[in-house]
Amino acid sequence: MLDQLPPFIPVGFALTLGLLFGSFLNVVIHRVPREMSIAFPASHCPACGAPIRAFDNVPVLGWVLLRGRARCCGAPISARYPIVEAIGGAAAVAIYFQKLSGRGLPLTTALLLFALYLSLALGLIALTFIDLEFMILPDSLTLGGLGVGLLSATVRPEVSVLDAAIASASGFLLVWVPFIWGYEKLRGRPGMGLGDAKLLAASGAWFGWLGVFFVLFAAAIQGTLVALTLLLTRGGIEEPEAVQREREELAALVEQAEGEERRLLEEAIALDPIGEEPDGSWARARMPFGPFLALAMLEALLFHDELTLYFQELFLL
Ligand SMILES: [Zn+2]
Repeated sequence: MLDQLPPFIPVGFALTLGLLFGSFLNVVIHRVPREMSIAFPASHCPACGAPIRAFDNVPVLGWVLLRGRARCCGAPISARYPIVEAIGGAAAVAIYFQKLSGRGLPLTTALLLFALYLSLALGLIALTFIDLEFMILPDSLTLGGLGVGLLSATVRPEVSVLDAAIASASGFLLVWVPFIWGYEKLRGRPGMGLGDAKLLAASGAWFGWLGVFFVLFAAAIQGTLVALTLLLTRGGIEEPEAVQREREELAALVEQAEGEERRLLEEAIALDPIGEEPDGSWARARMPFGPFLALAMLEALLFHDELTLYFQELFLL
């Protein structure tokens, strides 16, 4: 049994794995949106291409000892690297305390659940950073999360297979009908991306109804709070640089195209939520929603029991 081990063993194990996978997550965050392979080549300096020494690649510590500069060429290394690694380590330890310890789980069950929960947490962290930088949610992560959520429903305590299936379909429709299909009818452009719908479907597969309703509302509330804070402190919400660049490239493509091809391109851009230049006004400000869905899903993962109890009491009153 897991609980018969002295706690430092599972905590140390979780922390080590979380940090190491956090380090791998940096590779995912850099390469997946650029459509590069995540397996090859091995880690190299993004500035000069030199291979990175194993010791410099030690999570968090490597960056601290190098003081945020590459050993090869002195190029600054983004603080995002140690931050993602630390979040990975923290998530793994939180999973141990919130989901595994004190439950009388056999070791094999505990290991299986740890692997499943950690893969979800890591996928959500990757999605958050990719969406913040590029405003996209790659299918490999959203649909991958949906698949793992559905397939693992039988071995996890959160949902039955039936609940997982119904909730994931409902989650997809709950975003698609009003915010994509309906919004497009009204304003000629979808208000949310299909990636958000797929992510809420994944959330339903992992957490059932809690994953649909709690996650959508918690994400909306937390997103609104952050948007208000940004508007009050910075006077606006800036688009990520990569999105501005992509729009410029699209505009250049349209300029070069002619006739039918040009018409098709313009049509495709009109349907893309990021196609339109923001005009700086309140109502048009655009912020990725994926990070807030991901954050709410992490909350649903770690506080599943507490939230379930809270909502049961709320609705029985
Ligand atoms: Zn270098």
